[in-house]
Amino acid sequence: TLRTAEEAIGRLVRDVPDFPEPGILFKDITPLLADHSGFGAVVSALADAGREGGEVVIDKVIGMEARGFILAAPVALALGVGFVPVRKAGKLPGETHAVGYALEYGEAVLEVHRDGITAGERVLVVDDVLATGGTARATAELVAACGGTVAAMAFLLELSFLPGRAAVGDSPLTVLSVI
Ligand code: AMP
Repeated sequence: TLRTAEEAIGRLVRDVPDFPEPGILFKDITPLLADHSGFGAVVSALADAGREGGEVVIDKVIGMEARGFILAAPVALALGVGFVPVRKAGKLPGETHAVGYALEYGEAVLEVHRDGITAGERVLVVDDVLATGGTARATAELVAACGGTVAAMAFLLELSFLPGRAAVGDSPLTVLSVI
């Protein structure tokens, strides 16, 4: 599955130079999502991050707004566990935990519902691109604030020229493709 997923990413993720600003090479996953077999291959390979020896070893899958939602929700269904959204500030209606983190310019806040993760639960964190790792690290802090554990993180793409891998600490990391 990993080979098939990596091949689909190589063929169907589109590079968009200078988006959303000059100097950024944006990885556009929409052609991959529009391809049934490519989308299926990556969801299946990401879901493997939630299994050990064929057994599901996690209790929840978290996806981060917005592209993380698209990948994490089908991964949760494939594993037979629930999906929990991490959202930008002010979007979730219930009681939340919030974590601020630095962006290249300025700062952002992510939130999760306090009752989204129960104390002791093991969580798989899923997103499209691991870049600086700021988003993933803030998400790990939200899981910890709920009393949960990040059992694993899984991404379609790692930008290896950025320090994302170091930023996410020692949770087991799955990346389907490295640039
Ligand atoms: P970071 O917090 O720096 O690891 O950035 C991760 C978030 O920003 C992910 O949710 C990605 O969707 C998005 N992102 C960062 N860099 C890129 C890129 N070059 N292409 C597409 N998305 C990106």
